[in-house]
Amino acid sequence: MNMRILVVDDEPSLRGVLVEFLTQQGYAVDQAASGEAALQMFSQAPYPLVLTDIRMPQGMNGIELLQNIKDIDPVCQVIIVTSNVSLDTAIAALRQGAYDYLTRPFEDIELVSAVVKRAGEKIRLVSENQILIQELEKNNVELGRVNQLLKQLAIRDGLTGLYNHRHFQELLTNEVTRSKRHQREFSLIFLDVDLFKLYNDAHGHPQGDQLLKDIGHIIEKCVLQTDMVARYGGEEIVVLLPESSKDRVTRVAEEIRQQVASYPFAGRETQPLGKVTVSLGIATFPHDGNDGPALLHSADAALYQAKQSGRNAVR
Ligand code: GH3
Ligand code: MG
Ligand code: MG
Repeated sequence: MNMRILVVDDEPSLRGVLVEFLTQQGYAVDQAASGEAALQMFSQAPYPLVLTDIRMPQGMNGIELLQNIKDIDPVCQVIIVTSNVSLDTAIAALRQGAYDYLTRPFEDIELVSAVVKRAGEKIRLVSENQILIQELEKNNVELGRVNQLLKQLAIRDGLTGLYNHRHFQELLTNEVTRSKRHQREFSLIFLDVDLFKLYNDAHGHPQGDQLLKDIGHIIEKCVLQTDMVARYGGEEIVVLLPESSKDRVTRVAEEIRQQVASYPFAGRETQPLGKVTVSLGIATFPHDGNDGPALLHSADAALYQAKQSGRNAVR
């Protein structure tokens, strides 16, 4: 599409020369006989390029028009047309953001053509730039979303959505460091599904998977937002409870045990106790271990005792 140009001049003959010449050059040219009329037209549909006389004694002059236009559309390019005598004002116009100026009488009309062509090139570049920037911004947003997703994928277990083993190890290390520095307590729960092999055998692996997901949800309902639940491996889940004493962790573990035992899992009647149950071992820092591995070992040993005691128990 041909570039639209608005030519503004209060002198009909001078205006006519420019309009005719630019139309010949293939531009879509409109004209206005005053700054006011030009502004009216511009505010209805901004032009990418405006050529305006600088001196229009009847009303708004070219510099005022330039300022008004830039307020409406900062990327519009304005070429000031002036007579030799008012070069100072032309320079003032450039300072106000005019693209260029042309002096009258035009010695060589081809110069007008060259300036307009250059302005057109700049307009094209600016608009291409804007499109590129918009695309970049869109891509950036998209990239942020993907990054966020990748971060989640990296720290979450694919089946249950709980934290994965690797991330749990990091959380545990951090918690040990923090609790040592501030001399605080924290606790661990190590949980294992009772006789899960039998459940899988009776109902199939996919239903076993569903049971693991459900247990994850039940645990999350029993703990605080600040507690961290992770799938340690197979059918073993750990909970890290910051700022938690033996008292609290015992209560939370007991709550989890009861909630699981009373949950109506599909096919639970085939389990030896007639329900799905879990065994839980607990350990508290620093009493049961002074670093991550020692604490995990304590919780695992407690879990073993819970199994030995007949399962569906907290130790
Ligand atoms: P115990 O009470 O002594 O823990 O008995 P158990 O049957 O739960 O223990 P065992 O270690 O003999 O079997 C664990 C079972 O857990 C075997 C394995 O197939 C199953 N399992 C481990 N990971 C998954 C999993 O992601 N999905 C399913 N469906 N089963 C799993
Ligand atoms: Mg196990
Ligand atoms: Mg088990």
